[in-house]
Amino acid sequence: MQLTIRNLSKTYSNGVKALQDVSLDIPTGMYGLLGPNGAGKSTLMRTLATLQDADAGTATLGEIDVLKDKDAVRRTLGYLPQEFGVYPRIKAVEMLDHLAVLKGIPSGQRKEVVNALLQRVNLWEHRKKSVSSYSGGMRQRFGIAQALLGDPKLIIVDEPTAGLDPGERNRFYNLLSEIGENVIVILSTHIVEDVKELCSNMAVINDGRVLYAGAPEAALLQLQGKIWEKAIQKTEMEAYQQRYQIISSKLVAGKPIIHIFSENDPAEGFKRAEAGLEDVFFARINGVA
Ligand code: ADP
Repeated sequence: MQLTIRNLSKTYSNGVKALQDVSLDIPTGMYGLLGPNGAGKSTLMRTLATLQDADAGTATLGEIDVLKDKDAVRRTLGYLPQEFGVYPRIKAVEMLDHLAVLKGIPSGQRKEVVNALLQRVNLWEHRKKSVSSYSGGMRQRFGIAQALLGDPKLIIVDEPTAGLDPGERNRFYNLLSEIGENVIVILSTHIVEDVKELCSNMAVINDGRVLYAGAPEAALLQLQGKIWEKAIQKTEMEAYQQRYQIISSKLVAGKPIIHIFSENDPAEGFKRAEAGLEDVFFARINGVA
């Protein structure tokens, strides 16, 4: 099974070009869709989830025409949106059961399916609490449980780790990586770490355009030996910006450490740095490499 996206475009009525000629080949496994806020990730996710229409282009999932045959997509789709509504005061197990009804799971199987999913996402102990009382991490795991109802072949998770603490994030990573073995999981995120930990393929998008698509390692290889770093003073930043192609800067103990892209040794106290996925991300969105 593969998801094939060709020349997808979307312009909102206010003139924002959220998707511009997006083409991607998404195989089975975890696929990272990495881009800063406003890049167009949610627009793409919502289009693939049949919640909104594109202006042009095609998307096919195996034999299914995603943009035309919405019912067929919905039967094989699991979607965890950025925010999902929960009913207060209803127990998690009851809510999942209710969602299973909506998903068309036959009553004879429902109890078994719901219980198995609650165990799978490690919420069995907490099944009698309401989802509205859950922590961020528990809520996201519940979100995965509902996305897995009906054995979907395509699972879309939109910014799932935002707001999770490191421990919760790790538990969530483990859960996602187990799921990603036999189905297509598209993980949309602005957090480089999410992609680094989980995804065998990825795309970097910004301003509605695909800036890179492929394996993270291949992107790293292109930058190998060309990333240089230096600790500078804050007051020197502007001068460095004028002289070099700065990819990123971060503060370490209050002092900026800058990364630049250069084919050759820039000397001047720069040290060669190991290229990381952050460098790929920033180099692409800043148009440096
Ligand atoms: P991301 O998920 O990467 O943050 P979005 O797809 O939400 O990006 O947004 C892409 C661009 O489209 C942004 O500039 C955003 O402001 C704009 N946008 C998103 N939804 C709408 C909408 N319903 N109407 C108008 N503009 C929108």
